[in-house]
Amino acid sequence: MNFVTQAEVIEVIEHSKDIREYVLRLEKERKYNPGSFVQLTLDLVTASDIWPDSRTFSIASYEKGLMRFIIKNVGLYTSRIFNELNIGDRCTIKYPFGDLFNKKIENERHLFIAGGVGITPYFSLIKYFELKGLSKNIHLFYSVRFFDDLLHYESLKNTLGKNMEVFVTREKIDNCYNSRISIDDISRVADKETNIYICGSKTFNSDYKELLIKNGYTKIYMDEWE
Ligand SMILES: Cc1cc2nc3c(=O)[nH]c(=O)nc-3n(C[C@H](O)[C@H](O)[C@H](O)COP(=O)(O)OP(=O)(O)OC[C@H]3O[C@@H](n4cnc5c(N)ncnc54)[C@H](O)[C@@H]3O)c2cc1C
Repeated sequence: MNFVTQAEVIEVIEHSKDIREYVLRLEKERKYNPGSFVQLTLDLVTASDIWPDSRTFSIASYEKGLMRFIIKNVGLYTSRIFNELNIGDRCTIKYPFGDLFNKKIENERHLFIAGGVGITPYFSLIKYFELKGLSKNIHLFYSVRFFDDLLHYESLKNTLGKNMEVFVTREKIDNCYNSRISIDDISRVADKETNIYICGSKTFNSDYKELLIKNGYTKIYMDEWE
């Protein structure tokens, strides 16, 4: 049974013209797996109401009482969120959804592949591994077009150190690859037992899934965003 709670916006961080981070204080909360996602509606409803129009967003945090969502304004509902959801406003979320990550395999090796705003589910996973003292089990490949597109770069670097590699495809930046993530990059850090997660645009997801399968990888996990 999914859980419904109202939440208040306590902070809005403008990462760019079309990407914002909303920090919500939950009225009630329940446990969830890192990597989960929610249904967010601007309407104020309870569990017994008919569920209204809503959209899906990954939980981009793993902390008590709060949830962060990093939202890209791409269409009708996300532009309503940008226009209507301000500090002090309330909305309703239903969660948890998804089975991207299974805690039973936390001691195995994990490679997170992120394209652009597809980094969002990994924020909760990275925090989870950090809290468990298991950060050494994870490796992040984070691909963006421009360096300024990176979200929470410093904090990721502090947590992951050499276990984060950044690919900036449209400009040359020191200490970043100026290329797409290749199969050579993947095989350098992942053997066939590594759990590999893919999150990005529809084509990013399907291209990497196909590449991994073609090269004999079988432990592949992803959330389809469209
Ligand atoms: C599991 C999961 C997790 C997700 N997590 C996140 C997250 O953390 N952050 C995030 O930002 N998003 C996330 N998404 C995606 C998010 O749910 C969608 O971006 C959102 O639902 C879009 O709703 P919308 O009404 O604003 O867009 P819509 O208006 O429904 O448009 C959707 C897409 O269609 C395109 N489109 C719209 N109209 C047209 C048209 N006339 N012609 C051509 N193309 C058009 C838009 O550009 C957009 O890409 C997630 C999705 C899933 C399934």
